[in-house]
Amino acid sequence: MRDRWCEGRSPDLKGRPGGRTGAAVEETAETAGERRAVVIGGGLAGMLAVTALLGHVDTVTVVERDRYPEGHAFRKGVPQARHLHVFLSGGLRALEELLPGTGRAFTDAGARTLYPPSDLVTRTAVGWQHRFEERRHGCLSVTRPVIDGVVRARVLRAAAASATRLEVLEATEAVGLTGDAGRVTGVRVRARAGGDRTGGAGPAAAQTVPAALVVDASGRSSKAPQWFAELGRPAPRQETVDAGIAYATRMFRPTGPAGAPDMGINIPGWPGSPRGAVYVPVEGGIWLLTAAGVRGHHPPTDDQGFADFTATIGDPYIHGLLPHAEPVSPVYGFRDTANRRRHYERPGTVPEGFVVVGDANCTFNPIYGQGMSIAALDALALRRTLESGGGLRPGLARRAQRAVARATEPAWMIAIGADRPYASGADARSGLGERLMSWYVQRLILRSVVDPVLGAAFRDVSCLTVPPSRLMAPRTVLRTVLLPLRPGAGAPPAAVVPLRRAA
Ligand SMILES: Cc1cc2nc3c(=O)[nH]c(=O)nc-3n(C[C@H](O)[C@H](O)[C@H](O)COP(=O)(O)OP(=O)(O)OC[C@H]3O[C@@H](n4cnc5c(N)ncnc54)[C@H](O)[C@@H]3O)c2cc1C
Repeated sequence: MRDRWCEGRSPDLKGRPGGRTGAAVEETAETAGERRAVVIGGGLAGMLAVTALLGHVDTVTVVERDRYPEGHAFRKGVPQARHLHVFLSGGLRALEELLPGTGRAFTDAGARTLYPPSDLVTRTAVGWQHRFEERRHGCLSVTRPVIDGVVRARVLRAAAASATRLEVLEATEAVGLTGDAGRVTGVRVRARAGGDRTGGAGPAAAQTVPAALVVDASGRSSKAPQWFAELGRPAPRQETVDAGIAYATRMFRPTGPAGAPDMGINIPGWPGSPRGAVYVPVEGGIWLLTAAGVRGHHPPTDDQGFADFTATIGDPYIHGLLPHAEPVSPVYGFRDTANRRRHYERPGTVPEGFVVVGDANCTFNPIYGQGMSIAALDALALRRTLESGGGLRPGLARRAQRAVARATEPAWMIAIGADRPYASGADARSGLGERLMSWYVQRLILRSVVDPVLGAAFRDVSCLTVPPSRLMAPRTVLRTVLLPLRPGAGAPPAAVVPLRRAA
């Protein structure tokens, strides 16, 4: 009976020394609770959390409700994967620290590196940003299945080289926690329909996987607040700021050079123009077009409506490229884009033995491209906590959750600061300080269209390499407030401007 939930293995695992069969789980499940960690969700945050745990426990068991696809393919459990997923430089640095060589592996898999603003250009309310030749932030442009597939393969490799055993239970869903209000002692799991090769009728019975540490990396659908209630604990305090953005995305293959500019194009919405779009190259000669709009301006998901929508954004440039590219996918929509943070780091919120990372902890408006980077920074925070605190000692959950909160905070401040003006009801309430900051950042963005110094300062912060407080450096404040706004270029600039000439 028990092997009904533990028979699943990723095709990637086959023949790899890091992988374990379900039988291995059976042998150890009753005895290894003391030194086993269970990771709920084998997506990006879950796989990166595995790297943090290697060397600190005997066994890591990943519980993933999907089966992993062969190769780099989309899967049901990560529906947002159809949409633009840019990996910011700050997140890539964290990823490289966790899994050295991953950047190179992405490139080998066809990923493009775009350096804003020289080869990822933004149109703002005052015109097109100049293409200053800055190369401070290489941001990864590739489809999400490639990111997940490359990371998964490298995690399996890292596990194979470590003393920790890694087990991946595919087609297995976490349905609850075991323990009590003070301590989590394991996870209740159940085989999913279609994942049960024993052919039994009806839903599989739940089984318990004992664990000294449970990491919830189950993404935006995390049930941890409900599971807390079952253990007799209050749910974490939740904060939401929802700009009401919806996405629609389609893949294109350019039919000639006119459909493939030598730069990615970003035309975000701005006050007075609430619709936007991004057109970027990804692997295999494909370009991704993601359109977005706030409430009342959601992009349609039918073919004609989607194409028509691109004619209504703040600049006609992207629309003009479409006759030179053929669609190679349907249009996919996505609406749940609120910034939502659960404050597990607040004193007394997490029980011993339970840590929450990635989207399960905090989701962001995807416009800012932060979620995957925060998944990497969260994993790094967990690893450093384990290293500095001597592994699975009492108080680990509390300390790790505080470290995760510190890693999350800068991205959260950026996202809610920018989105508050578009929120409604209680979400929209902001203090004078936040309103002033919002005005200041807007002015800085507009001034940076012609000012490479301010542009660099803004990108350092928005790519998550320095904290937002750097925007208040005296030189940055003076340039933002005292220098006049000037119009940008009237059309996407063809030439890259050497920095010496711009300064
Ligand atoms: C439209 C859109 C566009 C985005 N664009 C960007 C971008 O450009 N850049 C960026 O950095 N981020 C972007 N993001 C954010 C990014 O998708 C997430 O931050 C990232 O996927 C978080 O990883 P995760 O592992 O926490 O969650 P997920 O990737 O959602 O993975 C969760 C995993 O848990 C599994 N699971 C769920 N429940 C259970 C359960 N009960 N039992 C077992 N398994 C379970 C799921 O099957 C899945 O594999 C975007 C998000 C959206 C919605």
